[in-house]
Amino acid sequence: MDISNRKLINIKDRNVTIIGCARSGMAAAKLAHELGANVFISDQGETKEELIQLNRLGIQGESGGHSEHIYEADLWVISPGVPKESEIILKAQSKNIPVVGEIEFASWFTHSPILAITGSNGKTTTAHMLYEMCKTDDIHPILSGNVGNPFSEVVLNDLSQPDEKRVHVLEISSFQMEFINHFKPYISLFLNLTPDHLNRYDDMDDYVSAKMNMWSNQTEDDFLVFNADDELLSKCIDSAKAIKIPYSLDSDTDGLLFRLNATKIYNQEHAKLINLDEIALPGRHNLSNYLGSSTSASLLGIASSRIAQVMSTFCGVPHRLEHIGEINGVTYINDSKATNVDAVKVALDSFNNPILLILGGQDKGGDFLSLYPHTHNKVKETLTIGESEKAIVSVLGDAVRLTTCGSLKNAVEVAHSHAQPGDVVLLSPGCASFDQFTNFEERGETFRELVQSLKVHG
Ligand code: ADP
Repeated sequence: MDISNRKLINIKDRNVTIIGCARSGMAAAKLAHELGANVFISDQGETKEELIQLNRLGIQGESGGHSEHIYEADLWVISPGVPKESEIILKAQSKNIPVVGEIEFASWFTHSPILAITGSNGKTTTAHMLYEMCKTDDIHPILSGNVGNPFSEVVLNDLSQPDEKRVHVLEISSFQMEFINHFKPYISLFLNLTPDHLNRYDDMDDYVSAKMNMWSNQTEDDFLVFNADDELLSKCIDSAKAIKIPYSLDSDTDGLLFRLNATKIYNQEHAKLINLDEIALPGRHNLSNYLGSSTSASLLGIASSRIAQVMSTFCGVPHRLEHIGEINGVTYINDSKATNVDAVKVALDSFNNPILLILGGQDKGGDFLSLYPHTHNKVKETLTIGESEKAIVSVLGDAVRLTTCGSLKNAVEVAHSHAQPGDVVLLSPGCASFDQFTNFEERGETFRELVQSLKVHG
């Protein structure tokens, strides 16, 4: 099938193979089915329940392995979990079957503007900020992508109930940008580029080039909003054709729409947007996220008053520096989503109080030693958990007071017995959760329950 001209793409009566039966694969299957394609979905793992659901709609599929049937296709749509070098993908490509990602696929079937947010850290938080700012009489935003709702699902819903005011706020991970042909956001917002997922990519260049696909189809009519404080990012976007608009915590940067001083943010008209102490979310990194989302919102024509309103009321997203509670004057913070070392650094920098840091989980190859300047003088004790304990002990063990706890339950108990009034107990693991939990949400919920049971038992 020829997909070189987006306008001419028609999947009616075409054989479409979907690889991966998780949420985005399921949604892509439903979208393709609705558009008249003969859909076949295939998953390496056991996904019987999902297949039964799809069968009811008349969609065929298989689980527990891939048969040769997957190659009887005019088009492949792959889920972000499938590595781009996997054998089946190489084989499909050798048979000249076009292979596209789920985001690319869904984007063919919507004409609504897309605001796409990517970066190593802060995507979900910033996508929510931008979504909230866009909620006005003139714009009907909807959040999708990496944030939970698959893009294919919201595109499908819009096909049956079109909304002229629709704007897609899309959170994009690097995996979702691996098979891109036409995807073209009106605004792409780049937050930062730091080493993450290095266990999946050969090296940083490979990782960076996946992220850069987000602006590769943007033209002079589109905007690329970028964090000018990130040197690597600023260099990488050099060749982008879109209109580049920087944002920065440094007020001397040229071309800013919003500028910061020690106490306030100002807009382009030099009018005060908000006092910094009125902003609900803690941390300089969130201030940076706000500058990125505000700049994007402003390019869409959102009024400064609306932007300021969101800044003063939005309390963040669960599992990101989430305030869980206080026991005997000790504050418990759930930052379970901090799955890389950089997220731990910004978490540590967000508090002035002494910290008991719960660190560890499934190692993603992060540089724990780089935490040292941020732990110094501030972290009273590091409590390690999970598979990466050894790695953490070997690099940080001599530099900070450290107790190996194994489980999160132990870590919470040790923290409770060692903490003093005024301290912060911070779960900011800097690692993936899969060694001990299903996902970071389960890790965060477990932390919440453990803290709540401390409250009950005193
Ligand atoms: P993502 O969706 O990119 O994983 P989240 O908003 O879920 O980002 O936040 C993930 C982690 O990164 C949290 O621990 C959060 O505190 C931290 N974080 C948020 N914004 C930033 C930022 N701009 N720079 C570094 N870390 C950040």
